[in-house]
Amino acid sequence: MSGTGHTVRRRHALALALAGLLTAVLLLPTAGAVAAPQKAKSAQTAKAKGAAKASAKGRTATAPPAQACNKRNNNTYQKVLGCVTLEGVREHQAAFQAIADANGGTRAAGTPGYDASVDYVVQTMEAAGWNVELHEFPFTYVPPPTLQQLTPVSATYETGIFTGSGTGTVTGNVIPVDINLVPPRASTSGCEAADFAGLNFSGPNDIALIQRGTCDFGVKAQNAQNAGAEAVIIFNQGNDPTREDLIIGTLLPTGAGVTIPVVGASFADGSALAQPGSTARIQVDPAESRPQVNVIAELPGKNDDNVVMAGAHLDSVQRGPGINDNGSGSAALLEVGQTLSKLKPENTIRLAWWGAEESGLIGSNQYVASLSQEELDRIALYLNFDMIGSPNYIFMVYDSDESGFTAPVPVPAGSTAIEDLFESFYTLRNEPYDDAEFSGRSDYQAFILNGIPSGGLFTGAEVPKTPLQATIWGGVAGQQYDPCYHLACDTYANNSDHALEVNSDAVAFAVLTYAYSTQTVNGVRGKRVPGNFSIPAPAGPEGTVGSGGGDEHDEES
Ligand SMILES: [Zn+2]
Repeated sequence: MSGTGHTVRRRHALALALAGLLTAVLLLPTAGAVAAPQKAKSAQTAKAKGAAKASAKGRTATAPPAQACNKRNNNTYQKVLGCVTLEGVREHQAAFQAIADANGGTRAAGTPGYDASVDYVVQTMEAAGWNVELHEFPFTYVPPPTLQQLTPVSATYETGIFTGSGTGTVTGNVIPVDINLVPPRASTSGCEAADFAGLNFSGPNDIALIQRGTCDFGVKAQNAQNAGAEAVIIFNQGNDPTREDLIIGTLLPTGAGVTIPVVGASFADGSALAQPGSTARIQVDPAESRPQVNVIAELPGKNDDNVVMAGAHLDSVQRGPGINDNGSGSAALLEVGQTLSKLKPENTIRLAWWGAEESGLIGSNQYVASLSQEELDRIALYLNFDMIGSPNYIFMVYDSDESGFTAPVPVPAGSTAIEDLFESFYTLRNEPYDDAEFSGRSDYQAFILNGIPSGGLFTGAEVPKTPLQATIWGGVAGQQYDPCYHLACDTYANNSDHALEVNSDAVAFAVLTYAYSTQTVNGVRGKRVPGNFSIPAPAGPEGTVGSGGGDEHDEES
């Protein structure tokens, strides 16, 4: 693999050796690290189930024992789809869950949970015989802030740091500033210096409690600092249902002079903090540089200048373990990687596990930015898998032919062929599917901005399922496609087995297809996938999405 960006194998190689050694010795997951499964245990169950499923999926009924899967060249659709199993994917998700459990419930960028996830992917892919590199990129880690009420009630509230906030830890009196909790809750709290008159901010640890409304957050915080506050809590106004949840905003530009910590709160938590005799503790730690890595695994092909890429982000949000977002895509790529490990592809296959997606697509953007034009020209296409097992799912394919949405970004030529292939797969499985906006709001953004044909799958995030969609895909109308989107409950249990099973096969199907030929996408001649397997034309999207019905999945902001 040609040098792309800065590789840092040393640190992780050592951690890996240690992890492997310890695991082998203790047969226990080392702190934070979890050993890669050898696909042994669940093989039998997979075999039995595989055989049953095979008939349903139009594959030969003779799914091999899983051990055979690792050792043989799975170069036909039947073989690959027989070896990629739900059990295998779930095992990787279970490993990510164990990693989160061992690291404070998160696998967010900059945390030990992410580092351990990297170690797990590296170990799994090296054990499967892929060439693995780590691509390092700069990252600023912002530790999660803390907002605790101490009196008259003891509680910890969800909070966030306002852009432009200072840092520090303050424990002291909470002093409400001209707040109005009585409906209709009109508020000019903290907008005038006069609001602070008569309030005692002379102490060393005074916390101003300010309500959203009328003027900029920056004006409010600057006035509080000028009045002598050592920290500020800004809570949502509560004057209508859309202004009740946790509020996190920016102090800039009007609050450019603010140097004290400023955190947000919901209306309910702000009301609790407004009680007489209220004291609280606020902690905002300084951001720090914590370089992160993407994991890049490659299986060389005969044509090393026509690289087939597929990727999934490996990080979670800070608030939870991210087992659907995006343990589902990361685990499916691992399972497909293991299954294809003995393949002799026509085209080089490159799989990527991205870092810091939730902080703004940072890992994938940094990776693509590190490539020379010559390196970019070697990439035939990019497939993205971000959230493919949502519990209340609908099947969606990135809509590069714009049948459901007008794409807000340029759609590189060849992308529609990728959409067609995924749609053909769902048609083959008699699965209804629909369009997800080709928005570029996931890790394919940098690829399409560099003209690389792209596509991918998505099963939905915070948008509620419509009654029509519930009649087509089942599930619960009115409930989010993923009720635990970006929450602590995005755990191993937050999953649809059926969606994940179908989509893991869709990932394998596409990667195998393009490993043999990308001619439909970029005109480069290849070969047919061995074996006889007919691929139907797409049946057509259900047409239940559009103008905001699909892809609202974005990074945490
Ligand atoms: Zn995601």
